[in-house]
Amino acid sequence: MTAPTGGRIGRLQAEMARAGVDAAVVGPSADLRYLACYDAPALERPTLLVVPVDVDPLLVVPALERPRAEAAGADRAARLVSWGETDDPYAAVRAALAGRRRVAVSDTLWARFLLDLEEALPGATFVRAGPLIGRLRARKDPEEVAALRRAAEAADGVALRLAAERVSGRTERELARWIAEALVDAGCERAAFVIVAAGPNAASPHHEPSDREIRPGDALVVDFGGPRDGYCSDITRTFVVGRAPEGFADAWAVLAAAQEAAVAAVRPGVPAEAVDAAARRVIAEAGYGEAFVHRTGHGIGLDVHEDPFIVAGNAEPLEVGMAFSVEPGIYLPGRFGMRLEDIVVVTPGGAERLNHAPHDPVTLR
Ligand code: ZN
Ligand code: ZN
Ligand code: ZN
Repeated sequence: MTAPTGGRIGRLQAEMARAGVDAAVVGPSADLRYLACYDAPALERPTLLVVPVDVDPLLVVPALERPRAEAAGADRAARLVSWGETDDPYAAVRAALAGRRRVAVSDTLWARFLLDLEEALPGATFVRAGPLIGRLRARKDPEEVAALRRAAEAADGVALRLAAERVSGRTERELARWIAEALVDAGCERAAFVIVAAGPNAASPHHEPSDREIRPGDALVVDFGGPRDGYCSDITRTFVVGRAPEGFADAWAVLAAAQEAAVAAVRPGVPAEAVDAAARRVIAEAGYGEAFVHRTGHGIGLDVHEDPFIVAGNAEPLEVGMAFSVEPGIYLPGRFGMRLEDIVVVTPGGAERLNHAPHDPVTLR
């Protein structure tokens, strides 16, 4: 079997064997793109990659989407089995998995398909495939790192363009629309998300862009990203409009030092939570501990958020090729917020930053 995906299904089967899992069933998702190179539509007709632990996989597809799966090269990763409009889509699954006891299903498989599988495979126990596939996806190969680098470059370009924009008098929503277009202009397939949070709104880390006008005296947090060649970007920069709010400069110095400390803590073998602790220590020692209300980062790849999570309690050691965000923030309700986010990749010597847009808050008009 010559997969375009470089033996990823074989590596999954090895993980499954180690975990005592007899089969995996993967629906339309980044997991499917990773394993079979196929971006299947997530619709009511089931598309299921079926991977028994010890024999070759099959990809069950609706007959009308077989040409699409072939065009994507999915037939090089798995044998295609198509089902016609009035056929039972689960007949092939039942035949392939008869007698399998422990079946892992992809994390985002729709509930209706899991319920159908439970009926099709009585006696089977279902577990999450996320931890198994997540371990594989967390370690990027050089082509994946190159794609992440290109995605970060596009996001950096948008951050640089933004630093020259006039923002006073525009609403958060207007600026968010401008950023989304700029991401596409920079080579992204689309904007995956855009946060624009001005003034007190910036104290809400996942603020939804609103009709509030941006005005002098605001701190402005922008956090955005989009996929390029399938791989995601995610960058946050904080700007000030006119003059910075009271207390901003002091908090910024702490935040910048915390981000630096976290990146400096990245090294193969170091537990993921140590990177979080490095940022948190700097922020807590400066008295802003309560204002840092989220984890330090998340893995990034085909999904914006994936393994490894840079959070207290995750003792998983970092490995070469892991890619994740380092994004501490300080949020002071009613006043302002700030966050600084770069994507880094673990290298033998430490961390390579993929984002290079300047860190320090540019003053916008
Ligand atoms: Zn976030
Ligand atoms: Zn972000
Ligand atoms: Zn992020």
